[in-house]
Amino acid sequence: MRLIIATGNEDKVREIDEILEGTGFEAISMKQAGFTPDIVEDGTTFEENALIKAKAVHALTEGEYVMADDSGLCIDALDGAPGIYSARFCGEDSTYEEKFRKIFEMLKDVPEEERTARFVCAIAVVRPDGTSFTVRGEVSGILHEEPKGDNGFGYDPIFYVPEFGMTTAQMDPEQKNAISHRGRALRSMVEKLTERC
Ligand code: IMP
Repeated sequence: MRLIIATGNEDKVREIDEILEGTGFEAISMKQAGFTPDIVEDGTTFEENALIKAKAVHALTEGEYVMADDSGLCIDALDGAPGIYSARFCGEDSTYEEKFRKIFEMLKDVPEEERTARFVCAIAVVRPDGTSFTVRGEVSGILHEEPKGDNGFGYDPIFYVPEFGMTTAQMDPEQKNAISHRGRALRSMVEKLTERC
């Protein structure tokens, strides 16, 4: 059975396909499936945005399984910002160094022990009959003022996980997958996706 992934990121599709091994589902990108929709992500939560994307692609199919995700960094002392705006924080074209500087400027009066944050990932699946579900995965950490590590992407160099004594950019991909918001959400998604089959 095909599970169409509403993303332009082929790496994500490969990662999901590996997780789906042995489930009877195969991940394919929306491009491979022949869809290249322009989707406006104007939801107010991770779940809403994931559902908007999954529903938009599902509407183009003749009734297939479609999955979409939405993720970001939520900083407790900033009331959950940048949250759903993580990619666009500081402006669409800003570098992550600029984003990090801005965050630490905003946190300059916040004591070290209150610099807590979470990576959040919501996944939405729309089934062939149009019914849908969402799942969420989270991982907690502390913002590390000095960026560390070369793996991963985005905010990984400043996201320090105390239990591991390193940032998510210092973890190898397997280590990160085992504890990450995306890894957790994906495993919950697979559980729910296969429970009715
Ligand atoms: P997306 O929903 O997967 O496109 O992620 C949105 C944004 O959240 C990314 O562009 C990153 O800024 C941030 N983000 C999400 N997941 C991660 C992660 O695992 N590491 C670092 N940054 C992340």
